[in-house]
Amino acid sequence: MPDTPTFAARVLEWFDRHGRKDLPWQRDISPYRVWVSEIMLQQTQVGTVIPYFEHFMTAFPTVQALAAAPVDEVLHLWTGLGYYARARNLHRAAGIVCSELAGRFPDTVEELCELPGVGPSTAGAILSIAGGQRALILDGNVKRVLARHGAVAGWPGRAAVQKQLWELAQRHTPVQRNAAYSQAIMDLGATVCTRSAPACARCPVRGDCRALAQGEPTRYPAKKPRKALPVRQTVFLMIRDPEGAVWLERRPARGIWGGLWCFPQVERTAEAAGWCIDRWGLEPAAVQPWDSFRHTFSHYHLAILPVQISLPGSPGAVMAGSDQLWYNTRKPAAIGLAAPVAALIRRLPRP
Ligand code: SF4
Repeated sequence: MPDTPTFAARVLEWFDRHGRKDLPWQRDISPYRVWVSEIMLQQTQVGTVIPYFEHFMTAFPTVQALAAAPVDEVLHLWTGLGYYARARNLHRAAGIVCSELAGRFPDTVEELCELPGVGPSTAGAILSIAGGQRALILDGNVKRVLARHGAVAGWPGRAAVQKQLWELAQRHTPVQRNAAYSQAIMDLGATVCTRSAPACARCPVRGDCRALAQGEPTRYPAKKPRKALPVRQTVFLMIRDPEGAVWLERRPARGIWGGLWCFPQVERTAEAAGWCIDRWGLEPAAVQPWDSFRHTFSHYHLAILPVQISLPGSPGAVMAGSDQLWYNTRKPAAIGLAAPVAALIRRLPRP
Protein backbone atom coordinates (compact mmCIF):
# COMPACT_ATOMS: atom_id res chain seq x y z
CA MET A 1 0.00 0.00 0.00
CA PRO A 2 1.45 3.42 -0.86
CA ASP A 3 1.84 5.83 2.07
CA THR A 4 -0.89 8.46 2.44
CA PRO A 5 0.61 11.85 1.56
CA THR A 6 1.09 14.08 4.58
CA PHE A 7 -1.57 16.57 5.60
CA ALA A 8 0.59 19.41 4.26
CA ALA A 9 1.22 17.67 0.93
CA ARG A 10 -2.52 17.23 0.36
CA VAL A 11 -3.31 20.81 1.33
CA LEU A 12 -0.56 22.10 -0.96
CA GLU A 13 -1.67 19.96 -3.87
CA TRP A 14 -5.23 21.28 -3.43
CA PHE A 15 -3.92 24.85 -3.25
CA ASP A 16 -1.89 24.46 -6.44
CA ARG A 17 -5.04 23.43 -8.28
CA HIS A 18 -7.83 25.36 -6.60
CA GLY A 19 -6.43 27.95 -4.18
CA ARG A 20 -6.79 31.69 -4.65
CA LYS A 21 -3.50 33.20 -5.73
CA ASP A 22 -4.60 36.60 -6.96
CA LEU A 23 -5.73 38.26 -3.74
CA PRO A 24 -4.33 41.81 -3.49
CA TRP A 25 -2.03 40.95 -0.56
CA GLN A 26 -0.60 38.01 -2.49
CA ARG A 27 0.95 40.51 -4.93
CA ASP A 28 4.08 42.57 -4.17
CA ILE A 29 4.46 40.60 -0.96
CA SER A 30 6.16 42.47 1.88
CA PRO A 31 5.97 42.26 5.68
CA TYR A 32 3.98 45.51 5.65
CA ARG A 33 1.35 44.26 3.21
CA VAL A 34 1.03 40.87 4.91
CA TRP A 35 0.72 42.55 8.30
CA VAL A 36 -2.04 44.95 7.19
CA SER A 37 -3.96 42.16 5.44
CA GLU A 38 -3.73 39.84 8.45
CA ILE A 39 -5.02 42.54 10.79
CA MET A 40 -7.89 43.36 8.42
CA LEU A 41 -8.76 39.69 7.99
CA GLN A 42 -9.17 39.16 11.74
CA GLN A 43 -12.94 38.88 12.27
CA THR A 44 -13.64 39.98 8.68
CA GLN A 45 -14.20 38.01 5.48
CA VAL A 46 -11.93 38.20 2.45
CA GLY A 47 -14.59 39.71 0.17
CA THR A 48 -15.19 42.57 2.60
CA VAL A 49 -11.49 43.18 3.18
CA ILE A 50 -10.37 43.45 -0.48
CA PRO A 51 -11.61 47.02 -1.21
CA TYR A 52 -10.50 48.25 2.21
CA PHE A 53 -7.04 46.78 1.68
CA GLU A 54 -6.73 48.38 -1.74
CA HIS A 55 -7.81 51.83 -0.52
CA PHE A 56 -5.50 51.52 2.46
CA MET A 57 -2.49 50.62 0.29
CA THR A 58 -3.22 53.49 -2.09
CA ALA A 59 -3.35 55.93 0.83
CA PHE A 60 -0.47 54.40 2.80
CA PRO A 61 1.75 52.42 0.42
CA THR A 62 4.53 52.01 3.01
CA VAL A 63 4.86 51.67 6.76
CA GLN A 64 6.46 55.15 6.73
CA ALA A 65 3.38 56.63 5.04
CA LEU A 66 1.13 54.98 7.61
CA ALA A 67 3.25 56.19 10.54
CA ALA A 68 3.23 59.77 9.19
CA ALA A 69 -0.55 59.90 8.66
CA PRO A 70 -2.90 61.44 11.23
CA VAL A 71 -4.80 58.73 13.10
CA ASP A 72 -8.06 60.32 11.92
CA GLU A 73 -7.18 59.53 8.33
CA VAL A 74 -6.46 55.90 9.26
CA LEU A 75 -9.76 55.60 11.13
CA HIS A 76 -11.56 57.21 8.21
CA LEU A 77 -10.32 54.46 5.86
CA TRP A 78 -11.34 51.88 8.45
CA THR A 79 -14.91 53.16 8.77
CA GLY A 80 -17.28 50.21 8.33
CA LEU A 81 -14.66 47.51 8.93
CA GLY A 82 -15.32 47.48 12.69
CA TYR A 83 -13.08 46.60 15.64
CA TYR A 84 -11.38 50.00 15.46
CA ALA A 85 -8.74 49.09 18.03
CA ARG A 86 -7.14 47.22 15.12
CA ALA A 87 -6.68 50.46 13.18
CA ARG A 88 -5.35 52.37 16.17
CA ASN A 89 -2.90 49.56 16.91
CA LEU A 90 -1.75 49.46 13.27
CA HIS A 91 -1.04 53.17 13.43
CA ARG A 92 0.84 52.90 16.74
CA ALA A 93 2.83 49.88 15.57
CA ALA A 94 3.80 51.67 12.34
CA GLY A 95 5.11 54.53 14.48
CA ILE A 96 7.23 52.09 16.51
CA VAL A 97 8.58 50.31 13.42
CA CYS A 98 9.63 53.66 11.93
CA SER A 99 10.93 55.43 15.02
CA GLU A 100 12.57 52.53 16.88
CA LEU A 101 13.35 49.93 14.20
CA ALA A 102 14.42 52.12 11.28
CA GLY A 103 11.40 51.05 9.24
CA ARG A 104 12.20 47.31 9.32
CA PHE A 105 9.91 44.68 10.77
CA PRO A 106 11.48 42.35 13.36
CA ASP A 107 12.26 38.81 12.21
CA THR A 108 11.25 36.75 15.22
CA VAL A 109 7.80 35.89 16.55
CA GLU A 110 8.73 37.19 20.00
CA GLU A 111 9.82 40.62 18.77
CA LEU A 112 6.89 40.96 16.36
CA CYS A 113 4.51 40.17 19.21
CA GLU A 114 5.80 43.24 21.06
CA LEU A 115 4.13 45.45 18.44
CA PRO A 116 0.62 46.61 19.41
CA GLY A 117 -2.07 44.32 18.02
CA VAL A 118 0.31 41.62 16.76
CA GLY A 119 -0.26 38.12 18.17
CA PRO A 120 1.59 34.88 17.44
CA SER A 121 -0.52 33.99 14.40
CA THR A 122 -0.08 37.38 12.70
CA ALA A 123 3.63 37.23 13.53
CA GLY A 124 3.79 33.73 12.02
CA ALA A 125 2.06 34.90 8.85
CA ILE A 126 4.49 37.82 8.42
CA LEU A 127 7.53 35.57 8.91
CA SER A 128 6.19 32.72 6.79
CA ILE A 129 4.59 34.54 3.88
CA ALA A 130 6.88 37.58 3.66
CA GLY A 131 10.00 36.35 5.44
CA GLY A 132 10.42 32.88 3.97
CA GLN A 133 10.90 31.33 7.43
CA ARG A 134 9.18 28.21 8.69
CA ALA A 135 6.58 29.73 10.98
CA LEU A 136 3.16 28.67 12.26
CA ILE A 137 -0.15 30.39 11.79
CA LEU A 138 -3.37 29.81 13.66
CA ASP A 139 -5.97 32.34 12.61
CA GLY A 140 -9.71 31.68 12.78
CA ASN A 141 -9.81 29.75 9.50
CA VAL A 142 -6.86 27.55 10.41
CA LYS A 143 -8.26 26.85 13.87
CA ARG A 144 -11.48 25.64 12.29
CA VAL A 145 -9.73 23.25 9.88
CA LEU A 146 -7.45 21.83 12.56
CA ALA A 147 -10.20 21.56 15.18
CA ARG A 148 -12.35 19.60 12.74
CA HIS A 149 -9.62 17.47 11.22
CA GLY A 150 -8.39 16.47 14.67
CA ALA A 151 -11.83 16.55 16.37
CA VAL A 152 -10.47 18.88 19.05
CA ALA A 153 -13.21 19.38 21.61
CA GLY A 154 -13.79 22.65 23.46
CA TRP A 155 -13.91 26.35 22.69
CA PRO A 156 -10.63 27.58 21.10
CA GLY A 157 -10.69 30.63 23.39
CA ARG A 158 -9.74 28.31 26.27
CA ALA A 159 -6.00 28.05 26.86
CA ALA A 160 -5.96 24.23 26.92
CA VAL A 161 -7.78 24.00 23.57
CA GLN A 162 -5.58 26.70 22.07
CA LYS A 163 -2.52 24.70 23.15
CA GLN A 164 -3.77 21.57 21.40
CA LEU A 165 -4.39 23.54 18.22
CA TRP A 166 -0.89 25.03 18.28
CA GLU A 167 0.48 21.50 18.70
CA LEU A 168 -1.46 20.36 15.63
CA ALA A 169 -0.23 23.39 13.70
CA GLN A 170 3.31 22.48 14.72
CA ARG A 171 2.80 18.87 13.61
CA HIS A 172 1.31 19.68 10.21
CA THR A 173 3.29 22.75 9.13
CA PRO A 174 5.98 21.80 6.60
CA VAL A 175 9.50 23.15 6.22
CA GLN A 176 9.35 23.12 2.43
CA ARG A 177 6.95 25.55 0.78
CA ASN A 178 6.03 27.00 4.14
CA ALA A 179 4.74 30.30 2.72
CA ALA A 180 2.47 28.51 0.22
CA TYR A 181 1.23 26.22 2.99
CA SER A 182 0.30 29.19 5.21
CA GLN A 183 -1.77 30.69 2.43
CA ALA A 184 -3.18 27.27 1.50
CA ILE A 185 -4.47 26.32 4.93
CA MET A 186 -6.06 29.75 5.44
CA ASP A 187 -7.69 29.48 2.03
CA LEU A 188 -8.93 25.96 2.73
CA GLY A 189 -10.65 27.23 5.86
CA ALA A 190 -12.10 30.26 4.08
CA THR A 191 -13.41 28.50 0.98
CA VAL A 192 -13.94 24.77 1.76
CA CYS A 193 -14.05 24.14 5.51
CA THR A 194 -16.39 27.07 6.06
CA ARG A 195 -18.10 27.85 9.33
CA SER A 196 -21.62 26.63 8.67
CA ALA A 197 -21.45 24.57 5.45
CA PRO A 198 -18.13 22.77 5.00
CA ALA A 199 -17.75 21.29 1.49
CA CYS A 200 -16.22 18.05 2.72
CA ALA A 201 -16.64 16.33 -0.66
CA ARG A 202 -14.09 18.80 -2.10
CA CYS A 203 -11.71 18.72 0.85
CA PRO A 204 -8.20 17.31 0.37
CA VAL A 205 -7.96 16.05 3.98
CA ARG A 206 -11.37 14.40 4.22
CA GLY A 207 -9.78 10.92 4.18
CA ASP A 208 -8.67 11.20 7.81
CA CYS A 209 -10.88 14.04 9.05
CA ARG A 210 -12.16 12.92 12.43
CA ALA A 211 -15.04 15.41 12.58
CA LEU A 212 -16.31 14.18 9.20
CA ALA A 213 -15.98 10.56 10.35
CA GLN A 214 -18.15 11.42 13.35
CA GLY A 215 -20.80 12.72 10.93
CA GLU A 216 -21.28 16.29 12.14
CA PRO A 217 -18.26 18.48 11.31
CA THR A 218 -19.94 21.75 12.33
CA ARG A 219 -19.89 20.60 15.96
CA TYR A 220 -16.24 21.70 15.84
CA PRO A 221 -14.86 24.04 16.97
CA ALA A 222 -17.15 24.42 19.98
CA LYS A 223 -18.86 27.79 20.28
CA LYS A 224 -18.03 30.30 22.93
CA PRO A 225 -20.18 29.66 26.01
CA ARG A 226 -22.96 32.24 25.85
CA LYS A 227 -23.71 34.80 28.51
CA ALA A 228 -26.78 37.02 28.29
CA LEU A 229 -25.51 40.49 27.43
CA PRO A 230 -26.77 43.46 29.45
CA VAL A 231 -28.60 46.25 27.61
CA ARG A 232 -27.60 49.91 28.06
CA GLN A 233 -29.47 52.92 26.70
CA THR A 234 -28.31 56.12 25.09
CA VAL A 235 -29.80 59.04 23.17
CA PHE A 236 -27.91 60.33 20.12
CA LEU A 237 -28.39 64.08 19.57
CA MET A 238 -28.34 64.66 15.80
CA ILE A 239 -28.10 68.46 15.96
CA ARG A 240 -28.23 70.41 12.70
CA ASP A 241 -27.55 74.06 12.08
CA PRO A 242 -29.77 76.00 9.63
CA GLU A 243 -27.44 74.99 6.73
CA GLY A 244 -27.90 71.31 7.58
CA ALA A 245 -24.43 70.68 9.03
CA VAL A 246 -24.34 68.10 11.84
CA TRP A 247 -22.57 68.57 15.17
CA LEU A 248 -20.06 65.79 15.91
CA GLU A 249 -17.63 65.17 18.73
CA ARG A 250 -14.59 62.96 18.83
CA ARG A 251 -14.76 60.09 21.33
CA PRO A 252 -11.92 59.59 23.82
CA ALA A 253 -9.14 57.31 22.49
CA ARG A 254 -10.07 54.54 24.93
CA GLY A 255 -13.42 52.83 25.17
CA ILE A 256 -16.09 52.16 22.58
CA TRP A 257 -15.59 53.85 19.19
CA GLY A 258 -12.29 55.15 20.57
CA GLY A 259 -11.04 58.14 18.55
CA LEU A 260 -14.03 58.03 16.19
CA TRP A 261 -16.52 60.83 15.68
CA CYS A 262 -19.98 60.53 17.14
CA PHE A 263 -23.10 62.52 18.00
CA PRO A 264 -23.29 63.95 21.54
CA GLN A 265 -25.05 61.53 23.86
CA VAL A 266 -27.43 62.05 26.77
CA GLU A 267 -29.42 59.62 28.84
CA ARG A 268 -32.94 60.93 28.16
CA THR A 269 -34.64 62.78 25.29
CA ALA A 270 -35.85 65.42 27.77
CA GLU A 271 -32.23 66.53 28.20
CA ALA A 272 -31.86 67.48 24.52
CA ALA A 273 -33.08 71.08 24.75
CA GLY A 274 -31.02 71.79 27.87
CA TRP A 275 -27.94 70.43 26.13
CA CYS A 276 -28.33 72.92 23.24
CA ILE A 277 -29.05 75.83 25.60
CA ASP A 278 -25.97 75.01 27.68
CA ARG A 279 -23.78 74.78 24.59
CA TRP A 280 -25.02 77.61 22.40
CA GLY A 281 -27.73 79.45 24.32
CA LEU A 282 -30.20 78.28 21.68
CA GLU A 283 -33.44 76.45 22.29
CA PRO A 284 -34.08 73.88 19.52
CA ALA A 285 -36.69 74.81 16.91
CA ALA A 286 -37.70 71.14 16.58
CA VAL A 287 -36.89 67.88 18.39
CA GLN A 288 -37.88 64.76 16.49
CA PRO A 289 -37.20 61.28 17.90
CA TRP A 290 -36.53 58.48 15.38
CA ASP A 291 -37.07 54.77 15.90
CA SER A 292 -34.61 53.27 18.33
CA PHE A 293 -32.32 50.38 17.38
CA ARG A 294 -29.69 48.17 18.93
CA HIS A 295 -25.96 48.07 18.37
CA THR A 296 -24.20 45.08 19.90
CA PHE A 297 -20.69 45.17 21.34
CA SER A 298 -18.87 42.13 22.65
CA HIS A 299 -19.91 42.88 26.25
CA TYR A 300 -23.29 44.55 25.95
CA HIS A 301 -26.13 45.73 23.70
CA LEU A 302 -26.53 49.46 23.30
CA ALA A 303 -30.13 50.59 22.68
CA ILE A 304 -29.78 53.82 20.71
CA LEU A 305 -32.53 56.40 20.38
CA PRO A 306 -31.59 58.96 17.69
CA VAL A 307 -33.19 62.39 18.06
CA GLN A 308 -33.07 64.89 15.22
CA ILE A 309 -32.73 68.47 16.45
CA SER A 310 -32.95 71.63 14.37
CA LEU A 311 -31.38 74.81 15.73
CA PRO A 312 -33.38 77.98 15.04
CA GLY A 313 -30.35 80.06 14.07
CA SER A 314 -26.63 79.90 13.58
CA PRO A 315 -24.71 78.95 16.71
CA GLY A 316 -22.65 82.06 15.91
CA ALA A 317 -19.32 82.81 17.49
CA VAL A 318 -19.00 79.59 19.52
CA MET A 319 -16.34 77.78 17.52
CA ALA A 320 -15.80 74.06 17.22
CA GLY A 321 -12.53 72.84 18.78
CA SER A 322 -10.17 70.13 17.52
CA ASP A 323 -12.44 67.46 18.99
CA GLN A 324 -15.71 68.98 17.77
CA LEU A 325 -16.91 70.02 14.36
CA TRP A 326 -19.85 70.97 12.20
CA TYR A 327 -19.87 68.12 9.70
CA ASN A 328 -20.91 69.22 6.25
CA THR A 329 -22.84 66.31 4.76
CA ARG A 330 -22.44 67.67 1.22
CA LYS A 331 -18.65 68.00 1.51
CA PRO A 332 -17.82 65.49 4.28
CA ALA A 333 -14.49 65.81 6.08
CA ALA A 334 -12.18 62.76 5.98
CA ILE A 335 -12.76 61.56 9.52
CA GLY A 336 -13.56 58.17 11.07
CA LEU A 337 -17.22 57.85 11.95
CA ALA A 338 -18.67 55.24 14.31
CA ALA A 339 -20.65 52.83 12.10
CA PRO A 340 -24.16 53.69 13.45
CA VAL A 341 -23.33 57.39 13.15
CA ALA A 342 -22.34 56.99 9.50
CA ALA A 343 -25.57 55.05 8.85
CA LEU A 344 -27.74 57.70 10.55
CA ILE A 345 -26.05 60.58 8.71
CA ARG A 346 -26.88 58.84 5.42
CA ARG A 347 -30.55 58.83 6.45
CA LEU A 348 -30.75 62.52 7.42
CA PRO A 349 -32.81 64.62 4.99
CA ARG A 350 -30.58 66.49 2.55
CA PRO A 351 -30.06 70.13 3.44
S1 SF4 B 1 -13.41 17.06 5.64
FE1 SF4 B 1 -14.90 18.66 5.97
S2 SF4 B 1 -14.79 19.13 8.14
FE2 SF4 B 1 -12.98 17.94 7.64
S3 SF4 B 1 -11.42 19.51 7.27
FE3 SF4 B 1 -12.35 18.98 5.31
S4 SF4 B 1 -14.02 20.45 4.97
FE4 SF4 B 1 -13.38 20.54 7.13
